[in-house]
Amino acid sequence: MMNKGCAIVTGGSRGIGKAISLKMSEMGLPVVINYNFDKAAAKAVLNNIENMGGRGIIFRCDVSDASQVKNMISCALSEYGNIYALINNAGISQIKLFGDITLDEWHRMEGVCLDGVFNCCQAVLPNMIHNKSGRIVNISSVWGVHGASCEVHYSAVKAGVIGLTKALAKEVAPSGITVNAVAPGCILTDMLTEECSEETLRQLAYDTPVGRLGTPEDVAHAVSFFVSESSDFITGQILGTDGGYY
Ligand code: NDP
Repeated sequence: MMNKGCAIVTGGSRGIGKAISLKMSEMGLPVVINYNFDKAAAKAVLNNIENMGGRGIIFRCDVSDASQVKNMISCALSEYGNIYALINNAGISQIKLFGDITLDEWHRMEGVCLDGVFNCCQAVLPNMIHNKSGRIVNISSVWGVHGASCEVHYSAVKAGVIGLTKALAKEVAPSGITVNAVAPGCILTDMLTEECSEETLRQLAYDTPVGRLGTPEDVAHAVSFFVSESSDFITGQILGTDGGYY
């Protein structure tokens, strides 16, 4: 898979995004590693990629801001000529009773997790449509499929990502572009450990039929399938990566 253009991984600096960035590089694609705050983490991923003989750049941008996203895509295009894959992974989470969620918190969740996907898709599509090829993979969540108590805003926007994926897949399929989503279950990253006690993590692993929490690499494998040529005839799909949780 050479010379097709680059892969853009939003939130590619930590957790699931880091594993996806490394996987994209393994697949031969130069990687644009996006981050919002933690430049050192993004740089460490880039070092890792370069040590393995790959290429990439880091780019700071808040995906909820359309003009920052446009700058990132312009930079990717001037660096690599084309964009082959966009992985919309950047996300935030929050555990809160529905009645305590403020309108600002609701809008921030929507801004990062849903507007972010909208902004990035809109910015890359002109190049992909021109090339008549491209892969978009959105990271939703098991909670977007069946809802989570105390995460109504998170569940709502992740369900929105699923709707966006299915509809956009139909619209851009004639242009040779596939749009799919992965819906991870409980994956051991900062997002999970910052919100859950050791006991809750043990319970989540117990509640997962395969008997363990997922790893970022579990999700990266699923993403790599949608980016690979093996999935040419697959679009608009939501692949659960949850150890049988749902
Ligand atoms: P982490 O919190 O470990 O990492 C989040 C990443 O997103 C970081 O790279 C962070 O960059 C980046 N990010 C956050 N906000 C923005 C923003 N506004 N603009 C650009 N980048 C941003 O999360 P995970 O790796 O766990 O999650 C990755 C994705 O997977 C998310 O969409 C999440 O909702 C989803 N998911 C995770 C699950 C889990 O159990 N972990 C389960 C289901 C889905 P920085 O550090 O610079 O802020």
